Amino acid sequence: MQDTIEKLISLLKRRGFVYPSSEIYGGFGSVYDYGPLGAELKNNIKQEWLKEMTQLNNDIVALDSGILMSPKIWEASGHLSAGFADELVECKGCKKRFKQGEVDGEKCPECGKELLPPRKFNLMMQTFIGPAQDSASVAYMRAETCQGIFVNFKNVMDSSRVKIPFGIAQIGKSFRNEINPGNFIFRMREFEQMEMEWFCNPNDSKTPNDWFEFFKEKRIDWLVKMGLKRENLRLIEVEKEDRSHYAQRQIDVEYNFPFGWKEIEGIHNRGDWDLSNHSKFSGQDLKVLDEETKDKYYPHVIETSVGVERLMLALLCEAFSEVEGGRTTTTQSAKEVETLLNIYKKIAPVKVAILPLVKNKEEITGKADEIYNLLRSEFKCQYDETGSIGRRYRRQDEIGTPYCITIDFDTLTDNQVTVRSLETMQQERVAISELINYLNKEINK
Ligand code: ATP
Repeated sequence: MQDTIEKLISLLKRRGFVYPSSEIYGGFGSVYDYGPLGAELKNNIKQEWLKEMTQLNNDIVALDSGILMSPKIWEASGHLSAGFADELVECKGCKKRFKQGEVDGEKCPECGKELLPPRKFNLMMQTFIGPAQDSASVAYMRAETCQGIFVNFKNVMDSSRVKIPFGIAQIGKSFRNEINPGNFIFRMREFEQMEMEWFCNPNDSKTPNDWFEFFKEKRIDWLVKMGLKRENLRLIEVEKEDRSHYAQRQIDVEYNFPFGWKEIEGIHNRGDWDLSNHSKFSGQDLKVLDEETKDKYYPHVIETSVGVERLMLALLCEAFSEVEGGRTTTTQSAKEVETLLNIYKKIAPVKVAILPLVKNKEEITGKADEIYNLLRSEFKCQYDETGSIGRRYRRQDEIGTPYCITIDFDTLTDNQVTVRSLETMQQERVAISELINYLNKEINK
């Protein structure tokens, strides 16, 4: 299984999805960069999430708050205290550091020497604002995007037509000084989160726990729609002592990665932890009025929080496969291995490849060019005329292009093209005049 992830990582580097950061300077651990296809894929995932949240749900609105905020926010949220710290153990010999829980016993798993006693290590990343570097200019890179939501909660209520219950959704970068980043883009120090905070009245007949259940189901359905197999997902109800410091209830949604079951999304009941603390620390009243009882109360919050890159890695692991001997007649030899990235069509970085059968016939390439120009305003397309047709199909298969279109000599007389689906391997002749409709229908199925 480890083999699978190594093959996937190598494919992602080779085809321009994910690069290690600062590679020409020998690398910069725990950060990654996203190449042409990775950038498209990440954007498509984010777009789908935002659409699910703010377009397909009632009463969820978007927000885009800053990475840098008043350091008081992190005092109020509890992130500067012990609540947001990991226990770190260090090896006396090789100096390697581990998260408490990652090591079993008192010896270093790397070199076998003695481990020092555990100590707390806060995960917030610090920086300085302005020219002076003193305690008054300390600021923090946000460790979760949702604090920007809580401190803007009143602004959103006052400036839009939302009423409790409603949600605010945000996508953005977060930073954590993880002790032991690893497993490729699974655990990094800079990553992106997609978080939705749902504000509800704890005295309503629909309780916060009912909303928790509601969003839990919705999130699972969405993850499955995005391409994760249900049997590769499991829900872990987290016991009180292991919960995040703000959570009254917590479910970790785990995915069966080649390196084991690991969390990809957290669903939390944060109660009134955030709004009540921000009221206390800021002196601003963040309570709202119950229209019926005329009492003021702090809304309770149900949160869904998923990492863009973790989800991307899960989707890529699910989509990746190798077929020995190939599954097409165009495979050159029985020993050849075909790589497939059978990814959810809507998030595929390239939707359509345009492949003229030959490259030295002006009528064919001219027609292919025409089709490319027709389709590119609707879909992310790639034009490819180099190499054999079999090789060109395989190049598209390994980046997950759902449709390949070939333009052949018949096209010149019947104005039809051959459309091949990555998912089914079926080929179909489609009239050029019908292509946009056909592809729209297929991709949005
Ligand atoms: P973990 O237990 O893996 O450290 P967490 O419980 O601290 O994760 P949350 O604070 O609930 O994570 O964050 C919500 C989501 O943000 C996670 O489910 C994950 O998808 C993503 N995430 C958190 N930390 C990282 C990281 N260091 N690198 C990449 N994604 C992350």
